[in-house]
Amino acid sequence: MPIVATTLELLAEHGPLGPVWWRFGRSGRHSLIEALENPNNRAAYDLRQAAREDEEHKAHQELMDSLVCIDCGDVPEQESTWEYGRQGQVEWTRRPGGRCWPCHQDREERLEREAEEQLEAARTANAVLYLDGLILPGGAARSGELPHEAAAHHLLAQTGLSRRLTHVLAVDYTPPDRYLERINLVFDGGIADGRPAGARFVPVRELGRAMAPAQAARVADALAGRALPFLLHGQRAA
Ligand SMILES: [Zn+2]
Repeated sequence: MPIVATTLELLAEHGPLGPVWWRFGRSGRHSLIEALENPNNRAAYDLRQAAREDEEHKAHQELMDSLVCIDCGDVPEQESTWEYGRQGQVEWTRRPGGRCWPCHQDREERLEREAEEQLEAARTANAVLYLDGLILPGGAARSGELPHEAAAHHLLAQTGLSRRLTHVLAVDYTPPDRYLERINLVFDGGIADGRPAGARFVPVRELGRAMAPAQAARVADALAGRALPFLLHGQRAA
């Protein structure tokens, strides 16, 4: 005959169906049904409970395995952790295909450093081009920017001239130097009215003295050529 016991406080807190019962000869607190079960039922219950815990553990491990860091292979013990970064404390949640916190921080710092180095290289390159002589207004297109729009925005930024650029005078390939190889499009900007603040005008015969050889040759060829419409997937740029 099992003997079970509880306290009024536990009963008040959990009610008679809660895990409030001790059974003499067993450890821990149990629900009444568990406490009254005979040892065989008890063993079966323990087995079921162990199987449940096993399954939960396996599911947890599978989730953790899916959150492996793609850089260092670290498998986390939990999905989210509190971490300290430059912006103070942040909750870092691991994602499939993502990184652990230290690798994430390393990468952020590296990307920042690379961006600074590229900017520095661009400044140096500009200084070199400038020392080499005059250049046509222009520059690289931003991501997602169309070529004729990029040319127009650089023209406006560098000379104050606002032009719709629809025709190309020359297409010039530049082999890799300190930058990647690239295609330069020389757009027809028409005839300038007045003297834009950012521009210097040079007689054609003096181009060779005012510009680096490749730049002067590009301009000379553009001036001699015929304007071709710039097409966007077969349609004329407007
Ligand atoms: Zn990592």
